Amino acid sequence: MTTLEDDARALLATGPLCDSCLGRPFADRSFGLTNAERGRALRTTIALADDADYDPDAPDACWVCEGYCGTFDAIAATIVAELDGIDFETYQVGTKVPPLVEENERLLREDAALEPDSGESLKREMNREVGRRVGAKTGTDVDFDRPDVLAVIDLEGFGPLDVLESGAAAEVTSHAVDVQINPAFVYGRYRKLERDIPQTEWPCRECGGSGIQLGDGGEEPCDYCGGSGYLYETSVEQTVRPHVVDAMDGDEGTFHGAGREDVDARMLEEGRPFVLEVKRPRNRDPDPAALEREINEAAAGSVEVAGLRLATYEMVERVKEHDASKRYRADVEFSEPIDETAFEDALAELRGTTVEQDTPQRVDHRRAALTRERTVYDTDGDLSDPTRAEVRIHGEGGLYVKELVSSDDGRTEPSLAGLLGTDAEVTALDVIGVEGETEPFELEEYFRDEPGVDEE
Ligand SMILES: [Zn+2]
Ligand SMILES: [Zn+2]
Repeated sequence: MTTLEDDARALLATGPLCDSCLGRPFADRSFGLTNAERGRALRTTIALADDADYDPDAPDACWVCEGYCGTFDAIAATIVAELDGIDFETYQVGTKVPPLVEENERLLREDAALEPDSGESLKREMNREVGRRVGAKTGTDVDFDRPDVLAVIDLEGFGPLDVLESGAAAEVTSHAVDVQINPAFVYGRYRKLERDIPQTEWPCRECGGSGIQLGDGGEEPCDYCGGSGYLYETSVEQTVRPHVVDAMDGDEGTFHGAGREDVDARMLEEGRPFVLEVKRPRNRDPDPAALEREINEAAAGSVEVAGLRLATYEMVERVKEHDASKRYRADVEFSEPIDETAFEDALAELRGTTVEQDTPQRVDHRRAALTRERTVYDTDGDLSDPTRAEVRIHGEGGLYVKELVSSDDGRTEPSLAGLLGTDAEVTALDVIGVEGETEPFELEEYFRDEPGVDEE
């Protein structure tokens, strides 16, 4: 059985090694040491055992790493410089190791008759040693799961010997370091106080959003959208996005809504949850209350946001996937006068019932016809005159509420029109609540900031 010292002698017999490369095959021994400390201890032990002169390590002569193990400080200095002006709390470092160096690592273990996977790889050591230095210099923490920033080092991007020659203040070329900034997220609820505002921007389908069409005289403004490129002048997304992107000093933003109402429906009362995702944010901690005021002032009453908070990455999936029930308020017109009792009875009949709905005729014709079942949780309403009513409906997510009223030529069963035996049509629709079915959207685990003081 070979001893640790035998193994170290075998490693040293392969050629000149730096302390890190000598210690790395023993990286799984003695937690709390660096590989360089392990290597230095082994080298010292052997020198003492042989009563030979101590021969200190020289990374520039190391045949395995070819000098890279002497560049941890320089790489970390470059990463810190690249991260200057970027606000982050967590980081991760990744390394691309040249294939020749990986081959050297394999040969080292083979020549010394060690297991091919003994200790750890240079890649792992590089990630940890550089990362530790970046963390210490910036006062931030490593996060292997979803860091705010990720720095990827391409070792082939610089020559280690040049770096070793330039001494303590050395940096590597910035081309060898790729800094990626992960997105940041703001959660909130929006209200849409006017009709005919889409949730997300809606490019003109005639000109594809360019605002230009080809006429006899060459390019001219698109007839369909008047040259704006948009079918609707604005959207909730366009109202919210620029302010959040600016506040976070990011490059661009994406709007994620918890479902969407029809363009002609308002979104009132509690509003609808959304997340604004900001790409490459240089500031991850804007003041949500100030941002909220700014958005609301600029929107001047057409759109309002409330309850803005800094959210985690997981909040995007939360708003998109969390099952939610919806509350509606609809103005309804009947083609014949309705009796008060019949109206109340029909609403009572719908309360708690499960309706079957074929895909509505107004929905995309290319979509395959499906029958879905949805529960109507609650109904309520007031007949204002014999042919007009306000109807309030609380239904399971995905319930087609206009069709629940009209029956959509019998495609929704039962329906208000069907129960009353007369045509009924929604003339104006408002969504007044979007609530999680099993629990609220706003659980603390999805937020990065402290809960705000409720202003209302
Ligand atoms: Zn080395
Ligand atoms: Zn157009």
